[in-house]
Amino acid sequence: MDDRKPIVIVKDLNYRYDRDWVLKNIQLTVNKGDFLAIVGPNGSGKSTLLKLILGLLKIQQGEILLFGEPLERFRHWEKVGFVSQKANAFNKAFPATVFEVVRSGLTKRNGLFKPYPKTTVKKVIEALKAVQMEEFLYRNIGELSGGQQQRVFIARALIGDPELLILDEPTVGIDTKRVSAFYELMQKLNREKGITLIIVTHDTGIISKKVSHVACLNKHLYFHGNSSEFEQFDQKELSSFYGHEVKILTHDHQEGGME
Ligand code: ADP
Repeated sequence: MDDRKPIVIVKDLNYRYDRDWVLKNIQLTVNKGDFLAIVGPNGSGKSTLLKLILGLLKIQQGEILLFGEPLERFRHWEKVGFVSQKANAFNKAFPATVFEVVRSGLTKRNGLFKPYPKTTVKKVIEALKAVQMEEFLYRNIGELSGGQQQRVFIARALIGDPELLILDEPTVGIDTKRVSAFYELMQKLNREKGITLIIVTHDTGIISKKVSHVACLNKHLYFHGNSSEFEQFDQKELSSFYGHEVKILTHDHQEGGME
């Protein structure tokens, strides 16, 4: 079996909401086992690209293949986990337990909730164990810290055993010293469970030490390569692409354990 098979292929993709193109001529391949970070300034089209890959927006021009199948025909959404932006911003009084949130990850895309068998509780606990949150099973989601809520949502995405996990700005709103712990968790899922990962992030400084590949997006794809190629990528060029100075650090300067 070829371990490097493409999980996502984006070909000649253009997209616009109204008059102006938001994504232009995007070509991108994500292979099995890759851990890809998509970086770029605000409004550069990162979320739009994720939404197109997730089938949440209709393709206008170009093509996306998921697990080798054109997106329009792709039905195996259980292979894809998604953690949306601000998945860690629950109101204190929101009436749902951690168990309920994680279990909802088993809901089919058609929105139908089947009565759940006894094994579901076991599955929820397993998913929470993967993010070291099992002791919070029956706590209310709103009582948890931002970082803890986010790990619950990662567990929600993991409960269906996805082969591809997509996270939109997962480190926003998390204490900087917890950011390293987040990347350690992602690296573990990537290496031990073989999950292919795509994240959108602003952690440009540390990213080359955390992921296997980086894509720099600003309507066009300016750069796509592995992390050592990204470290070689001209900092001046990157700064002009961002519109302000951006430093790529070549050492890991962040500390911090799990919350
Ligand atoms: P990013 O995730 O990089 O911040 P987005 O993909 O959210 O960028 O947005 C890219 C561009 O598309 C921005 O100019 C944004 O204002 C615009 N945009 C995003 N969503 C919509 C929408 N629903 N309707 C119209 N324009 C949108």
